[in-house]
Amino acid sequence: MDEFIEQLPNLAKDKHKETAAYFKKLKRKPPKDLDYQMQELHEEEFERTDCLTCANCCKTTGPLFTDRDVSRIAKHFRMKDAQFIETYLRVDEDNDYVLQEVPCTFLGADNYCMIYDVRPKACAEFPHTDRKKFQQITNLTLKNVAICPAAYNIVEQMKERIKLK
Ligand code: SF4
Ligand code: SF4
Repeated sequence: MDEFIEQLPNLAKDKHKETAAYFKKLKRKPPKDLDYQMQELHEEEFERTDCLTCANCCKTTGPLFTDRDVSRIAKHFRMKDAQFIETYLRVDEDNDYVLQEVPCTFLGADNYCMIYDVRPKACAEFPHTDRKKFQQITNLTLKNVAICPAAYNIVEQMKERIKLK
């Protein structure tokens, strides 16, 4: 897995043009059963992929924290929301709460998430390859394929399996 993660930015770069052209077609005319097909591709990939041998998302990019995430996680630490924000978060250029630093403060040395049960929604849903109307998040996915080996594989499989005109 380590070698694949190391090569991923270059692999994604090599495929970028092809994938961007494919996503353009997908947005223009998404297949009727796209949600179903993405669900299947996502499940198949995550049967093969063990995130505990990776954690590259937690190491290289942090999630956005919604107000709900902040309240839930602060409560978990028995902290006030403001105290949690001051300790762990900052406001980014889009005015969102993000981590002060990466790798994520809550990532353990064994790649376990210390706040798994209350982790941010964005973490629970990453890499978003099973979300409905996948065609709406193709720009985000173009970035995620350079970070997440599973997302990369899913998109490569998708191009093989879902032929577009
Ligand atoms: S979601 Fe992707 S980047 Fe994150 S740990 Fe799993 S395979 Fe790795
Ligand atoms: S909160 Fe947990 S799942 Fe989310 S980035 Fe940090 S370690 Fe990873």
